[in-house]
Amino acid sequence: MQIDIDRDVCIGAGQCALAAPKVFTQDDDGFSELLPESGDALGGPMVGEAARACPVQAITVS
Ligand code: SF4
Repeated sequence: MQIDIDRDVCIGAGQCALAAPKVFTQDDDGFSELLPESGDALGGPMVGEAARACPVQAITVS
């Protein structure tokens, strides 16, 4: 599974980190980034949930 975050689109709403806290976090500026230790959680259902929750569709799961 490949997860891409378009940081040009991200508005720092934080919905991804709320939906999948083992995969996403927010950097000091509030923008989304993947947790380096996300590992097994990448395949979990919450990743898709996070992508759907993003208000600006900044997350692509392929
Ligand atoms: S939910 Fe979308 S806009 Fe909000 S922090 Fe995550 S990627 Fe950015």
